[in-house]
Amino acid sequence: MQFNFDNTYHTLAPEMFSECKPTPVQSPQLVLFNNALATELDIEFIDNNTKTLAALLSGNIIADGAACLAQAYGGHQFGHFNMLGDGRAILIGEQVTAAGLRFDIQLKGSGITPYSRRGDGRATLSAMLREYLISEAMYALNIPTSRSLAVVATGEAVYREQVQQGAVLTRVAASHIRVGTFEYVSRFCAPQTLRDFTNYVVKRHFPEILLDENLAISLLTKVLDKQIDLIVNWMRVGFIHGVMNTDNMTISGETIDYGPCAFINAYNPSTVFSSIDTGGRYAFGNQPTMALWNLTRLAECLLPLIDSDTNMAIKKAETVLNTFQSIFDERYMTMLAQKIGITNVQDSDRQMIATLLNWMFINKTDYTNTFVRLMYPNFISDNVYQQSDFLYWEKAWKERMASEDNWLQTMQQTNPIYIPRNHRVEAALQQVTETGTMSTFNALVNRLSEPYSTTNPDFELMAPPAFSDDACYKTYCGT
Ligand code: AMP
Ligand code: MG
Repeated sequence: MQFNFDNTYHTLAPEMFSECKPTPVQSPQLVLFNNALATELDIEFIDNNTKTLAALLSGNIIADGAACLAQAYGGHQFGHFNMLGDGRAILIGEQVTAAGLRFDIQLKGSGITPYSRRGDGRATLSAMLREYLISEAMYALNIPTSRSLAVVATGEAVYREQVQQGAVLTRVAASHIRVGTFEYVSRFCAPQTLRDFTNYVVKRHFPEILLDENLAISLLTKVLDKQIDLIVNWMRVGFIHGVMNTDNMTISGETIDYGPCAFINAYNPSTVFSSIDTGGRYAFGNQPTMALWNLTRLAECLLPLIDSDTNMAIKKAETVLNTFQSIFDERYMTMLAQKIGITNVQDSDRQMIATLLNWMFINKTDYTNTFVRLMYPNFISDNVYQQSDFLYWEKAWKERMASEDNWLQTMQQTNPIYIPRNHRVEAALQQVTETGTMSTFNALVNRLSEPYSTTNPDFELMAPPAFSDDACYKTYCGT
């Protein structure tokens, strides 16, 4: 396997990263390899026997052209600032495709780094398979995300609540630069480093604003725009990130850090699955609020670049941040309208959408399946859809659809039929960790690669769990 690495992060100030190498593992075994992604990334294969791939993607062999480093960053975790950094991930290089696109290739779970604090630098097979499955599902759902190139089992034990198998995930992202990276630079580095880093980020992610008069304001505006799109997309498919700390919010607008994330079944904006999110800070419906909170932290870091007069800088930053709510509301409404087939939103449509959401909320109706039911009534046979309230709503909706030319097409592009149902994900992972069998897991990955497809519908995969199971479902961070 031959990468085409061009490593630019090394050109930044030395306090932005630490050079360090993956810690070799006992007996690397390739568990998953994403051929389609390797092709997209223009990775060349000279010797692609699984042994070589396992050695390269566990970090036992360092790829040609690699220049390994761990990135420094900070972050507000549940509202409190901490110094963090790649504690269990190592960037091995930046892969440049034939078309000139640049992607970080990172090994996650590859051993301790100077930022590991008390952690072991390792990851469990189960958590890395979960990240592989959900990130690839998100990609197929057309949602910006980091991707997963491979999972290699390490042959070593990892000690969590129970002893588990270890693994290394190869994570691919446009970059791993976070709001937390800016928080680190603005707190701990020289003013010039902040300036240089901002230039670097703009060149890398938003070259179109390079000549703008106020680079920092333009950057903030861009990141705000990307984050709004991201959150609207999450809410389109019922995704709860679960740990939207500023260190888990990318500047590129990609979803990263698939720790405690999960998908809602019953529609309820206050849904939380994460075991540590006891206050509901990152509840499904609170995600836009938290995105704005994180953007405000980013804005604070950029103040010295926005204007030398701090009061002026705050005013300018606020002008950008104050656009969040109206842009979000508009795009959120457009998305919801598309979920029921409307491309041309009229005032009365807002009421129609609100009525449907409210009906779902009261009846604890499945979010995904309600829209599937509207598109394909034969797919979903649940008595809840015989309720008079619903039938009454549906009649009005059908009348409204008479004036929407491509309503079904609009809905088909907006509403997935398959999402990674939490109970299905858990069952697949359990089979792997208990019996070493990948069949259920692979079948699930495969199905989720075409989440909008109606060919040979798999009704079992569409089914939500019993409501009581859903209420008990818990997810965990950093495993
Ligand atoms: P996360 O909750 O995955 O976003 O991680 C928050 C911080 O903890 C990051 O700095 C991670 O690198 C670090 N971290 C998480 N798990 C480990 C681990 N097992 N070993 C070392 N550092 C870790
Ligand atoms: Mg993180």
